[in-house]
Amino acid sequence: MSILEAINLGKSYGKKEMKVDALKDINIEINKGEFVAIIGPSGSGKSTMLHLLGGLERPSSGTIKINNIDIGKLSDRKLAEYRRKEVGFVFQQFNLLPILNVKENIELPLLLGNEVIDENYINDIIGILGLTDRKNHLPSQLSGGQQQRVAIGRALANRPSIVLADEPTGNLDSKTTDEVMNLLKESSKKYNQTLILITHDVNIARRADRIINIVDGQVQKNTNKLQNL
Ligand code: ADP
Ligand code: ADP
Repeated sequence: MSILEAINLGKSYGKKEMKVDALKDINIEINKGEFVAIIGPSGSGKSTMLHLLGGLERPSSGTIKINNIDIGKLSDRKLAEYRRKEVGFVFQQFNLLPILNVKENIELPLLLGNEVIDENYINDIIGILGLTDRKNHLPSQLSGGQQQRVAIGRALANRPSIVLADEPTGNLDSKTTDEVMNLLKESSKKYNQTLILITHDVNIARRADRIINIVDGQVQKNTNKLQNL
C-alpha cells in the first residue's frame, strides 16, 4: 500500500535570473514500511526532496500525498501537525541539547509538543538503540555513534510513520555507520515505519529495498543496478 506519492512535483528557489529549479516533475510512489535510499550528486535536489516530503517546505508545483492527503493544501498549522505526528527527522548533525541527558533529549519533542510520554515505549526505543546504560549520560559523555543513536531515538519518540534521514551516518566511521544503519533498519521494521534516507555511501544504498537516483532535479531510471556508482 502506498503511503507517499509525489505527482509532477517541482520546487524552485529564487526569482528571474536567480531562479533555481531544484526539482522538476518528480513522480514517485513509496509503500508503507519500505526502505528507500536517495542518491545523487551534490546539489541534485536530494535535501530539497526530503524537505518537501517532510513538510518542511512547500512544493512550487505538483502534489505530495501522504496517506492520500495532499499536504501542499494543508494550512501552516495542519502542516506543522503533520510533521509533529507523522514524521521523524534525522540529520547528519546530531543537534542534541548538551544540558539534557540521553533520555531527556529523546523525550524533548514530546515535551515541546505537550504530548503524553509513554515511558514503556521510550524505554523500548532506548533498549533497541542500545542506550539503556547511557540513559542518564550527557551528549558530551558519548561517542559519535552513540550521539547519533540518541538523535534517532529523538526522531522515533513521536511514533512517526515516516522516518526521513539526511546523510545520518555522514559523520561516523565505517564500523559505527554499520551499527547505526542496522539499528535504523531494525527499528523501522519493528515499528513498520517507512524509511527514506539520503546517502553518498554505496554500501548503505545497497541495503535499501529501492534506490532512487536524483540527477539535476530529476529521477533517473534503472538505478537499481547502481551502474552509475
Ligand atoms: P542536494 O541535497 O542534492 O545536495 P539540494 O536539495 O540541497 O541538493 O539543492 C538543490 C539545488 O537547489 C541546488 O542548486 C541548491 O543550491 C538549491 N537550493 C537548495 N535550497 C535552496 C534555497 N533555500 N534557496 C536557494 N537555492 C536553494
Ligand atoms: P547537503 O549536505 O545536502 O549538501 P547543503 O549544504 O546543500 O546540504 O544545504 C544545507 C541547507 O542549506 C539545506 O537546508 C538547504 O535547503 C539550504 N541551501 C542549500 N543551498 C542553498 C542556497 N543556494 N541558498 C540558500 N539555502 C540553501
